[in-house]
Amino acid sequence: MTASDAELLDRARAAAHSAYAPYSGFPVGAALLLEDGRIVTGCNVENASYGLTICAERTAAGRMIVERESGPPGERPHIVAAAVVGLKAAPCHPCGACRQVLGEFSCDRVIVEGSSGDPVSIAFTELLPHAFGPDSL
Ligand SMILES: [Zn+2]
Repeated sequence: MTASDAELLDRARAAAHSAYAPYSGFPVGAALLLEDGRIVTGCNVENASYGLTICAERTAAGRMIVERESGPPGERPHIVAAAVVGLKAAPCHPCGACRQVLGEFSCDRVIVEGSSGDPVSIAFTELLPHAFGPDSL
């Protein structure tokens, strides 16, 4: 059974509580729903240099690669949906860098919290139209 959008937001919110965000005080969590129904989460990991900070969506994407079932090297997982929750802001949309990384894995849609806390689903092509991706090479 596939997780509902609300369940994905719950998983993202839970991951945000693990965030390492001592500089911004802006904890964010992400939950990626994969084709096989697995959910992979991530949180933002900040750095004193600021520029090396990694967003929740990208830590989740890295974890997705590490934890994937064995397959041919270079095989590209497909993200069915990516839920993103910022504990201090709703909606919390992915930044430009994360949109590019989610696009690498053919993300279909992104789920954020609306102002009332309800899930809002956004088609990925709406977030990153005319994306540069693997098919561009
Ligand atoms: Zn980001």
